Amino acid sequence: MIILDHKDAFTKEVPFKKAWERLYGFNTPNAMIEWIPAAQGGKPKRVDVDRMTVIAEAGAFKADVINYIAPQRASPIAFRMGLTNREGWCPVNRRTFESEIVRDVFVIGDAAVADAMPKSGYSANSQAKVAAQAIADQLAGRTPGEPSMINVCYSLAGENYGVSIVDIFKVVDNRIVKLPASGVSPITDSPAQPLLEAIYQRNWHRTFANDCFA
Ligand SMILES: Cc1cc2nc3c(=O)[nH]c(=O)nc-3n(C[C@H](O)[C@H](O)[C@H](O)COP(=O)(O)OP(=O)(O)OC[C@H]3O[C@@H](n4cnc5c(N)ncnc54)[C@H](O)[C@@H]3O)c2cc1C
Repeated sequence: MIILDHKDAFTKEVPFKKAWERLYGFNTPNAMIEWIPAAQGGKPKRVDVDRMTVIAEAGAFKADVINYIAPQRASPIAFRMGLTNREGWCPVNRRTFESEIVRDVFVIGDAAVADAMPKSGYSANSQAKVAAQAIADQLAGRTPGEPSMINVCYSLAGENYGVSIVDIFKVVDNRIVKLPASGVSPITDSPAQPLLEAIYQRNWHRTFANDCFA
C-alpha cells in the first residue's frame, strides 16, 4: 500500500507508524506500506484512470486499486440553503452550533466550522448534544451554557492492534480549542498495550453506535 499525501502529518501519526513498523515492516526495503508526505512529493496531481496510475509530484504510481480522496466541502444542500462560507463550510456559533448566516438553523458534524475539533463521527455526536441542549435552552428562554466537547477515535492498524486518540475541547473567544489533557496511544514495549486497545476499540464502537442510534 502506497499512501500519497498532500500533507506532512496525520492524526495518530506516532502510534500508527509504530504499528506499521511492527506489523508491516514500515521504513524497511520490504515494507508492505509506504507513506509519501507532501515534502517528499506525495501530493497527487492527476489520476489516469485508463492506466490505473496516480501522477504525483514524486512520479507516476501504478496500482491495482486506487482510493482517491477528493478535496472535501459541505454537501450541496448546505450551499442551496445559503449556509456556507467561501471555503465551502458552514460557520456556526461555537456555543450552540446555530448557523452564523441563517438564524434558527443548526449545523453539526463535518459541514460545520468547528476549529480544532476534527471532522469525526464522535465530534458530530458531541456537537449534536450541545446543539440539542442549546435548542432546548433557547425554546425555554434560557441562555445556553458553556459547552465541553469530546472526540474519541479508535482505529485498528491490524486485527489485534488498536491505536486511539482522545481530545477534550472548550470554547475560547468564540473558537473551539483543544485542552492540554488530550492524548494519543503511548508507545510501550508491552505486547498487551495495543491488544488491549483493540479490545477497547470494539467496545467503543459498540457503545458509540448504541449512543448514536439506539
Ligand atoms: C474511511 C473513514 C473512516 C472514518 N473513521 C472514523 C472513526 O473511526 N471515528 C469517527 O468518529 N469518525 C470517523 N470517520 C468520520 C465520520 O464518518 C464523519 O465525520 C461523520 O460521518 C460525519 O457525520 P455527518 O453527519 O456530519 O456527515 P455524514 O455522515 O456525511 O452524513 C450526512 C448525511 O446527509 C445525507 N444527505 C446529504 N444531502 C442530503 C439531502 N439533500 N437530503 C437528505 N439527506 C442528505 C448524506 O447522504 C449523508 O447520509 C471516518 C470517515 C471515513 C471516510
